[in-house]
Amino acid sequence: MDATALTSPGKPLPPLEAGTLYLVATPIGNLEDITLRALRTLRECDVIAAEDTRHTAQLLHHYGIQKPLLSYFRFNEARRSSEILQRLASGERVALVTDAGTPGISDPGQRVARAALEAGHAVESVPGPCAFVAALAASGLPTDEFHFAGFLPHKSGQRRRELERLRDVPGTLVLYESPYRIERLLGELVEVMPAREVVLARELTKRFEEFRRGTPAALQAASVGKTWKGEFTVLIGPADLPATRVGAGIAADADADADAGEEDVEGEGHPEADEATERRDTEVEGDSKPRGGAGPTETTDEPRP
Ligand code: SAM
Repeated sequence: MDATALTSPGKPLPPLEAGTLYLVATPIGNLEDITLRALRTLRECDVIAAEDTRHTAQLLHHYGIQKPLLSYFRFNEARRSSEILQRLASGERVALVTDAGTPGISDPGQRVARAALEAGHAVESVPGPCAFVAALAASGLPTDEFHFAGFLPHKSGQRRRELERLRDVPGTLVLYESPYRIERLLGELVEVMPAREVVLARELTKRFEEFRRGTPAALQAASVGKTWKGEFTVLIGPADLPATRVGAGIAADADADADAGEEDVEGEGHPEADEATERRDTEVEGDSKPRGGAGPTETTDEPRP
């Protein structure tokens, strides 16, 4: 395709290609984070394969898009993949989305992408949000080399072995973790990677977006008695970036201290609807008293402004 066709003012964009699978990235919390191309792809495709059709229906409704939906999730991937291949073979333009972010990244999509390629169909990325890229970019940790490992296994022995294996991987280590296992993960990091700089990126692109930085022990100490809520991406600095450098050039938000001890009920407003207090960039350094004693408790689907 001639790239200038996409950029020349006034020139119509080329239509979607028949028999192509489009992997369309969707917002990770903030509905504005969707590209013009993603919207056009969703508008012009023949069918949308979605991880959760109800969730995607809300996104489509927000943008006034009406399109047949097909459920495609981890447990029907095999069956649905062959149906999608049949549709591609008959010339349909199929868009695949997941609940959030980029399909295939710790989400369904990879299997059907591979099957489509093996069957000779075109597969295109319609790039956009991806939680770990957003987290890494704003983490302050090295981005020149990183290792994305997605979710750790749930079983203790397997997690431990995986963390020990990942300890020796060069660059920044990036993990996805459920809020129910963040505390456990910090405990494991205290044992396996105690001197590393850790960044907890929480609720990215949403109202209570927050970055917490520190050693595993300091982050653990700062969260005693708190309930972890929301979505977390965990970044672990490389072994040659000691956690003692955490404070260099990163200003802690003093307002985080003012929030200490306050908990918000999920889905309700923030206690102080003051913009300045909402975005916290909290350092929890070394053995010093943690800044921002409040644990990361607030969560809501509201976007950041
Ligand atoms: N495909 C998605 C992507 O491109 O990032 C990831 C899907 S995976 C099932 C969901 C995990 O991504 C969450 O458990 C969390 O670890 C991370 N995540 C998703 N949204 C996030 C957000 N707004 N802030 C921080 N982490 C997020």
